[in-house]
Amino acid sequence: MEIVILAVVIALVAVGLISGLVVSSRKKKQLPPSAPSSTPTITPPAEPRVGEEAEKPRDEARRTVEEAGLPAGTPVGEEPVVLEPEAPALEVPEPTAGRLVRLRARLARSQNSLGKGLLALLSRDNLDEDTWEEIEDTLLTADVGVAPTQELVERLRERVRVLGTRTPEELRTLLREELVSLLGPDFDREVKTEGGAETPGVVMVVGVNGTGKTTTTGKLARVLVADGRSVVLGAADTFRAAAADQLQTWGERVGARTVRGPEGGDPASIAFDAVKEGIAEGADVVLIDTAGRLHTKTGLMDELGKVKRVVEKHGPLDEILLVLDATTGQNGLVQARVFAEVVDITGIVLTKLDGTAKGGIVIAVQRELGVPVKLIGLGEGPDDLAPFEPGAFVDALIGD
Ligand code: GDP
Repeated sequence: MEIVILAVVIALVAVGLISGLVVSSRKKKQLPPSAPSSTPTITPPAEPRVGEEAEKPRDEARRTVEEAGLPAGTPVGEEPVVLEPEAPALEVPEPTAGRLVRLRARLARSQNSLGKGLLALLSRDNLDEDTWEEIEDTLLTADVGVAPTQELVERLRERVRVLGTRTPEELRTLLREELVSLLGPDFDREVKTEGGAETPGVVMVVGVNGTGKTTTTGKLARVLVADGRSVVLGAADTFRAAAADQLQTWGERVGARTVRGPEGGDPASIAFDAVKEGIAEGADVVLIDTAGRLHTKTGLMDELGKVKRVVEKHGPLDEILLVLDATTGQNGLVQARVFAEVVDITGIVLTKLDGTAKGGIVIAVQRELGVPVKLIGLGEGPDDLAPFEPGAFVDALIGD
């Protein structure tokens, strides 16, 4: 009997232990993976904040962040906030001098038919009408544009006639000179970031979404950092959900703060606060990424006009850079026209030149706006943005 009672007791204890283990292991599974049970599961919003009167209770802050589907630690609040760069190990961007030469292989590959194609045609023994037509077609296919194409063909015909017999070297020199001259070698292509005595240089980046605007703003921050400047970023593209996160990541990599606000927030107030932050921390340059929706020109005009006006309360803008996707060809020119009507574009950034054979768009868009291409994008890598140099560009096209 005693043995039976003992056996029952042991059995009960064993069952109890096993179920206890199961329950506690279930409990563990319900916990968030890395959260210690006694501490809050929220990462507090990054400091410092600008323009925030009272901090929201943490639970409310966490709810807002969770509801918005944003990562923990995303700042909350109505006002734009300034985010400290978090990344401890900062990257050292490549120096900008000679970038175009380093990236020339990409240009040479993508623009092969333009540069080398022209050279091959000009080298034919018999430069008959058909060949000149082919030369013209090559230029038009590369989006050089009708008027510049006719001018160039005219000049080439004239010079080839004067030259008489042609050596390959003479032809290369001749074509190089004519293409460089078509690219407007005298344009001032420096990205202006001087600012005022008390204010940083302010650069506004505009363009249709998808052209590479945010990426370009991030790459430009790296260009400036590589040249020894300190940068603050303003995430005024509040229309595209991921734009602010994307920009912040670019900033963190090189130690630039990002001023951002809630999704759908007022771009002008974020831009204003970004410049205010730039002044407060004595930054050299503030780069402002804007949204580019084109469904109504009036909406675009209102928004960009307002951003510009509000920023100029701090001081004049140094640059308004228009980002155009080179792969969109003539459509890019239409965009250029619309933006030029809305704001005074001071420089053009042509992106994705690595992915199109239509490098002639550089010539066409400069003609269209009378404004120089200052930077070109040659890939998705962080340092694939190069200052535009006509000579190096043409050398990459036709070889030297
Ligand atoms: P946004 O909407 O104008 O801000 O566009 P994003 O900056 O998000 O860029 C859109 C896409 O274009 C991204 O996948 C970028 O990596 C890509 N992109 C930007 N610039 C270049 C470039 O010069 N070359 C290539 N190949 N891709 C680029």
